[in-house]
Amino acid sequence: MSAALLINFAYVVASALFIFGLKLLGSPASARRGNFISAVGMLIAVVAALLDQGIVEYHWIAIGVVVGSIIGALSARMVAMTSMPEMVALFNGFGGLASLLVGWAVLYEGDLGLFTLITVALSILIGGVTFTGSVVAWGKLAEVMPSKALVFSGQQVVNGLLVLGIVASAVMFCLEPNDHTWLYVLIALSFLFGIMAVIPIGGADMPVVISLLNSYSGLAACAAGFAINNMILIVAGSLVGASGIILTQIMCRAMNRSLGNVLFSGFGSVSTASTAIEGEVRPIEAQDAYYVLEAASCVAVIPGYGMAVAQAQHAVKELQELLEENGCEVLYGIHPVAGRMPGHMNVLLAEADVSYDLLLEMDEINARMPTVDVAIVIGANDVVNPAAREMESSPIYGMPVINVDQARTVFVLKRSMASGFAGVDNPLFFKENTRMLFGDAKESINHVVREFE
Ligand code: NDP
Repeated sequence: MSAALLINFAYVVASALFIFGLKLLGSPASARRGNFISAVGMLIAVVAALLDQGIVEYHWIAIGVVVGSIIGALSARMVAMTSMPEMVALFNGFGGLASLLVGWAVLYEGDLGLFTLITVALSILIGGVTFTGSVVAWGKLAEVMPSKALVFSGQQVVNGLLVLGIVASAVMFCLEPNDHTWLYVLIALSFLFGIMAVIPIGGADMPVVISLLNSYSGLAACAAGFAINNMILIVAGSLVGASGIILTQIMCRAMNRSLGNVLFSGFGSVSTASTAIEGEVRPIEAQDAYYVLEAASCVAVIPGYGMAVAQAQHAVKELQELLEENGCEVLYGIHPVAGRMPGHMNVLLAEADVSYDLLLEMDEINARMPTVDVAIVIGANDVVNPAAREMESSPIYGMPVINVDQARTVFVLKRSMASGFAGVDNPLFFKENTRMLFGDAKESINHVVREFE
């Protein structure tokens, strides 16, 4: 078999592994296998691509694999589970930056045709926007910058001018590729546009942004694949781009926003006016919570970001088992944007061996809610906020939420009256059937577990 044929064969195998891996990622039960199979596909793809290009010696490939694996393994070990969303945001960003660098490097290959120049410009543009956009998203998630929308007057005009500048510099770059001034202008404007596109996006819309940036990183890789004429990069980039867009659609539906609204100026345009919430907060002690739970025949657990912070998933599983031994049915209601990344709650509950059959999606759990005796809200806030249904002035009005307030009793486990990621007050805490169990979620649940035992 000739070398070219062998490399093409490796590409086909890698592509098949990617697609098969993606399919397995569709269910929590097979996700781990899917991840592994895709990683094997990526290893084959990287080695074959480097051999294909013929520009690097074997020892460079080996060094790259070793250095990359060490960084990957170390960060996977060292990054806390709660910081995974930030890591995903950075992964997207570095994917974009890598595509930008690949596109840039192609310029040193000598005379390039118009098609290649266009793909270089696209990989630089999309890669640059993805990089800085993801860094801003990381900053909002890590709370090193305010998660609220940063809006100023004339923002649309500035963004419009930036887009014009980007188009103009991309055209000039294609016309005069040897004059690198236009290249630098294009890179700078793309970086700036990435920042400007994400800063006006408020906390509540971040899930859409994260999945959109994920899709962009794929598109940037795809453009870089065309620039260096590499089949596997085009395939991998298209797969990431397409799956990112599908995820974006899912997130849009979860946030009740159309993709058009997300892409063109919908972000940050929601009113931030808030209406004072009336009512009384009723705290409860773990011991009293136990008495209520002991008498319940159906309990719904609604986890949110606070469960990840408290690492309460194992305690939750323990409570579930005790309730079940007591003859109570326990269900979990998973909101699509609960936590800080898609599938965040599923990952945590899978870690604690909670059966997938017990995890109900938002619509399913909402249909059951009026028959639920106790809804236990564990570190969730925005995803159970009834203001999304009841208060037109709320920034999250219209967002579908889990209707825990329709359960007979609601226990909210959190440390204070602080608001969630979207920075919106929550009238749930003041409802008559709500009891606030203040404290770290893990400690509160352990306390209830001790009462059971
Ligand atoms: P929220 O951010 O709305 O609320 C989390 C709550 O957890 C806080 O109110 C906090 O209250 C509480 N908490 C924190 N630490 C603890 C602890 N140790 N013990 C007990 N409680 C704790 O989370 P939700 O999951 O309800 O909503 C997700 C939000 O994040 C949405 O606004 C969503 O749009 C956004 N988002 C989601 C992404 C995704 O892909 N899923 C990505 C980016 C953003 P207190 O401080 O009082 O304890």
